[in-house]
Amino acid sequence: MKVRFAPSPTGALHIGGARTALYNWLLARGSGGRLVLRIEDTDRERSTPENVEQILDALRWLELDWDEGPVFQAARAERHAEALQQLLDAGHAYRTTATGDDVRAWKAQHGDDRGFRGTSEAEGAVRLRVPDEGETVVHDAVRGDASFKHVHLDDPVIARADGSVLYNFAVAIDDLDAGVTHVVRGEDHLSNTPKQLLVFEALGERAPIYAHLPLLHGPDGKKLSKRHGAASVQELRDQGYLPEAVNNYVALLGAGFDPEREYFTRDELAERLRLERISRSPAVFDERKLRHINGHYLRELPVEELTRRLEAFTGREGLAGAVEISREKIQTLADFWPLAGFFFDGPADDEKAFAKVFGVEGAVDGLAAARDALAALEPFTQEFVEAALRGLLDANDWKPKHVFQPVRVAIAGTTISPGIFESVALLGRDETLRRVDAALA
Ligand code: GLU
Repeated sequence: MKVRFAPSPTGALHIGGARTALYNWLLARGSGGRLVLRIEDTDRERSTPENVEQILDALRWLELDWDEGPVFQAARAERHAEALQQLLDAGHAYRTTATGDDVRAWKAQHGDDRGFRGTSEAEGAVRLRVPDEGETVVHDAVRGDASFKHVHLDDPVIARADGSVLYNFAVAIDDLDAGVTHVVRGEDHLSNTPKQLLVFEALGERAPIYAHLPLLHGPDGKKLSKRHGAASVQELRDQGYLPEAVNNYVALLGAGFDPEREYFTRDELAERLRLERISRSPAVFDERKLRHINGHYLRELPVEELTRRLEAFTGREGLAGAVEISREKIQTLADFWPLAGFFFDGPADDEKAFAKVFGVEGAVDGLAAARDALAALEPFTQEFVEAALRGLLDANDWKPKHVFQPVRVAIAGTTISPGIFESVALLGRDETLRRVDAALA
């Protein structure tokens, strides 16, 4: 299989685009084929170098590599002009100054749009001559066949009067030249397909197989957008998702796999993805599911690797100990700092939490007793901390709210933290006592 991913660099890489890229990558890798990256930068105003870089960056982050390219569509203008001339010379295309309104007026009167056709020497835009008879059939590997009777098709404009070609023409020529065997892309391109097929036919070339992927919706059934949370790959990265989790989850959207199974390696995905199994109905992107899958991948990482990623994500160092005791409680890299930042930056200042915890009768006494027990503790390990604090509960008939919660709020400044015994042990005796004293003062 030879496939391609052909983003227009008019903005960030969206989640739908990432799925298209991933499916093409999986198909190439699963078939021992090749993936071409083509940048469709013919919209000169919106296609900026920054946008190109952003897309390449997102693909690299997802570890989706390509075998050819990037090929820049705009740089192929000469080749496009040459193919256009070939069609003009062969009479498969013609120039005309007729506007869309002229064509529609003619059609209303005569039932077809053939009468206004110009010649290759005329002025004006270039239109492709759709054969008068017959039909063009799109064999979509996902959606099945759709046929378009030629009498119902307008002659599509393929180049402007200045000779610059239009999008559908450029795409067909580029796919042809690259030897693409399968065009796998979003359903929003479905209506372009007959036009592209007609270009192949006019050139006497064999067209690739097309496959259109179902749209992505949010959980509310509406087209996926910013309203549903992160919309671009960059945003997912900034929100602390791991590329392996994003790939795994995005791959499932519309793939038609067994819904009982959630976790797949990339090799497994590449082995299993089949165009015929892809679903026709919209797939739902649910960020909560992504969070869940991300949590799984986080816990699967060796702690050193997770530490390395968290240090890169937060820009801080020396996180290993805190990572070790927090990893069960976080689902994204971004969850770490709110949970464990107090080890490094001092207690948070959650006044409500203080008021609530010390509003409990006996909480101050419990904290004072904990202070004395911890001050005398030897060795200062998690095990001994736990034994000492639990001992206070037993000896005084106290509950966790009299000892554990006050200690927690004293060291963390809030009621959210990793396990209390491991947190105290990690913080160490001196710093724990300093924070407890500050809370008691
Ligand atoms: N450049 C188009 C896009 O970004 C894709 C065209 C195609 O895959 O044929 O939506």
